[in-house]
Amino acid sequence: MRSHPDACPGAVELHAAADGGLARIRVPGGTLSAAQWDAVRLAAAELGNGSIELTSRANLQIRGLADGVELAERLRAAGLLPSWSHERIRNIVAAPLDDNQDLVDALDAALCADPELASLPGRFLVTVGAAVSGLGGDLGLAGDVLLLAGTDTGVRVSDPVDAVVTAARLFQSMRGPAWRLSEVDDGVRKITAHFGVSSGAAFTPVVTPVAPSPLTPGVPLGRLDASQLPGVAVRLTPWRSLVVPAGTDVTGLITDPASPWHGVSACTGRPGCAKSLSDVRADARAWLGTPHSRPVHWSGCARRCGRPAGEVIEFVATGDGYEEIR
Ligand code: SF4
Repeated sequence: MRSHPDACPGAVELHAAADGGLARIRVPGGTLSAAQWDAVRLAAAELGNGSIELTSRANLQIRGLADGVELAERLRAAGLLPSWSHERIRNIVAAPLDDNQDLVDALDAALCADPELASLPGRFLVTVGAAVSGLGGDLGLAGDVLLLAGTDTGVRVSDPVDAVVTAARLFQSMRGPAWRLSEVDDGVRKITAHFGVSSGAAFTPVVTPVAPSPLTPGVPLGRLDASQLPGVAVRLTPWRSLVVPAGTDVTGLITDPASPWHGVSACTGRPGCAKSLSDVRADARAWLGTPHSRPVHWSGCARRCGRPAGEVIEFVATGDGYEEIR
């Protein structure tokens, strides 16, 4: 059980990283208009270190910030910061190829409208859609299925927005110091009992990543230069890739599943993270070309931040090379 509050960064409260302030910008459902994407690009170029990071929850990060004041103003003007009180809990990851942004927007608005939910943990996660149902959300929607801590306990709902808000309130009322529903003793059973169980076929949560293509390009090691994709409406995926309109210039991005970059990820490492025992991103680049049958993740220390879900080959810096974990 946790004994301290979570310290997830937001766009208002920055994380003091070794390379300056780090802002995490929640993008529920991952959808940004061209104007919003340009606002993020310009902020990264003018206020940050000129790069934009994609996270495993389809959010964005800007690094190297002096403070969050100017960034927050710009995000608010672009419609990317609709709630100051709830901004860290706007964690809704959606299947990026489904037509679900309206549902995500309704969920986001309903969660942000409830004052009690402002103090949900920053790690709280809602998934929307079958393709992301296995990403370990606290709550998940897949059709009429309401997943609890990533499992189908038999709850079926007719009003998904009301169901998620109700379940989030129940979690909040019983969580104590826990950050995730899976950490609450009897939490899943109690929420299941509140809704009741329907008979019928069970749903098996899955993760169905989007394959790289010119319409769904991957971002090498999850980091874009702020000059990339000017004037393009994008949808972020939880696999550090983007959905872009046909005809978009995707130079420098991963468009081929056979690319050596495909399936390779890395944490921040040196110099951005003071805990890192190595420059993992440089080491990952140097390693590229080595055949790998599964996703590969490089970490600068045993915390293994950003490790993708599922079966992964890991390289974890030890201070004396890397430990390989299979
Ligand atoms: S895994 Fe370690 S080195 Fe990498 S970002 Fe996390 S804390 Fe930093």
